[in-house]
Amino acid sequence: MFANKLAGRYACIGFAGVVRIGGILMEITGLIDEVRKQVKEWRRQGLTVGLVPTMGYLHEGHKSLIDRAVAENDRVVVSDFVNPIQFGVNEDLDAYPRDIEADKRLCRQAGADLIFHPEPEEMYAPDFSTYVEMQKVSEGLCGKTRPTHFKGVCTVVCKLFHIVMPDRAYFGQKDAQQLAVIRRMVRDLDMDIQIVGCPIIREADGLAKSSRNTYLNEEERRAALVLSRAVFHGEEMMKNGERDADTILSQMRKIIEAEPLARIDYVEMTDADSIKPLARAQGRVLTAMAVYIGTTRLIDNFIMEV
Ligand code: AMP
Repeated sequence: MFANKLAGRYACIGFAGVVRIGGILMEITGLIDEVRKQVKEWRRQGLTVGLVPTMGYLHEGHKSLIDRAVAENDRVVVSDFVNPIQFGVNEDLDAYPRDIEADKRLCRQAGADLIFHPEPEEMYAPDFSTYVEMQKVSEGLCGKTRPTHFKGVCTVVCKLFHIVMPDRAYFGQKDAQQLAVIRRMVRDLDMDIQIVGCPIIREADGLAKSSRNTYLNEEERRAALVLSRAVFHGEEMMKNGERDADTILSQMRKIIEAEPLARIDYVEMTDADSIKPLARAQGRVLTAMAVYIGTTRLIDNFIMEV
């Protein structure tokens, strides 16, 4: 398979950028046509393709998705695109951290084959006017505070799916509602793509890894630990047999409210697939939160089958 992989890599020419390490090539392009050309060539060779959609500024959380994709597919495409249409008007689109050189290094080390790194103009024509909009699943939790967010996510992921046509696509449980939304979109619109959910990767002290952690100053970084502390506490309560949502959520809220720098956006319990609120833990249960630490909005969650 290795020889096959090399053959596939050398077969593509005319790319916007080629990074060579140890005789193996990883390409980067900003052009939709070039991604299509490369994927078609892979398909012609009978190879399977995995896609890992990201907004860049890659960390170990993203790497875990890429690792899994590399293990399960012959070729892996990582999209690296800060998608403007999933940001609300007063959100952090301009401030969102970017470092494509570091991203290239991480992708190369993880064994990805191609990075798709388009400019917004490549993805959105000036008269772009077609969106994928979902009801229900996208309306609770983050959808309340970010009412246009999942419309932007669904639209860009749908476009990425059409561009790459992957066999499998990899998403983190860190964004549990996003994962539920994508699964629903794929089911509802009959997309022939397997969606693979991957566990949350955390810092040694518990904080869920996130590109947005870079916004935190030292004091806020310490304060941010209330999210994972509340998650672990809720998880423990449920493991010990507690099923009443109010009992679990009120204890989790108490932990967060004890931190003066923290302001709760939501702490809720829902069904992990439909995102319908639950009064009692039953089935595949998502307990999720969004909390502002200073001006930075962080999310965390746990899922448990009960
Ligand atoms: P983002 O670049 O933040 O849009 O994330 C791209 C993908 O990486 C999404 O599917 C996220 O859920 C996933 N991801 C981000 N952070 C983590 C993490 N700490 N653990 C696992 N997956 C993550």
